[in-house]
Amino acid sequence: MARYTGPRCRLCRREGVKLYLKGERCLTDKCAFERRPYPPGQRKERVSKKTDYGIRLREKQKLKRLYGMTEKQFKRLFEEADRRKGVTGDNFLVLLERRLDNVVYRLGFASSRTQARQLVAHGHIAVNGRKVDIPSYLVRPGDVIEVREKSRDIPFIKENVEVAQRRGIPGWLELDADNLRGTVKSYPDPEELREQVPVNLQYVVEFYSR
Ligand code: SF4
Repeated sequence: MARYTGPRCRLCRREGVKLYLKGERCLTDKCAFERRPYPPGQRKERVSKKTDYGIRLREKQKLKRLYGMTEKQFKRLFEEADRRKGVTGDNFLVLLERRLDNVVYRLGFASSRTQARQLVAHGHIAVNGRKVDIPSYLVRPGDVIEVREKSRDIPFIKENVEVAQRRGIPGWLELDADNLRGTVKSYPDPEELREQVPVNLQYVVEFYSR
């Protein structure tokens, strides 16, 4: 299935949670979810009863939309997580976080994962000194992720980094804001991630294990 290109705020309203898909705007009172915290196309007072399947589907959609992925990419990564040793849900979350587009967002070079994916795909990001334009690239401890020399003057990048520093950089990453460079110190801790990601992972696992 193709990537969703419609209004992003609609996704937050559909999933009943803020997915922070629009950068700074999500933190202001212009946020559509703050104004209308009920599903699009429904009147506020109408609450539909969900089936077990529906509940699991919504959790899966929520996680997929949070990371801005297509169903095909998302399912493929889930299968990879399922093949690995350990708890599938935790493996999945760690793999999602290790994607280069997510790391560019977490380091603050971009204000949203959508913008981060564009920065990567348009060749503005290097890993260990070499251009990497594949958003799904999985980073490893020791990797150095930086904005390429030719792209350092893009005005919004420095502004984004300032905002991200106030928001906080995850402990598994280290940011050198002056040089627009980040280092992966370790793999992300699934326990910490579970606190940050507003999704019931068990339901996601159950959705794909039907
Ligand atoms: Fe979601 Fe951000 Fe739109 Fe609010 S402004 S509804 S958090 S995408």
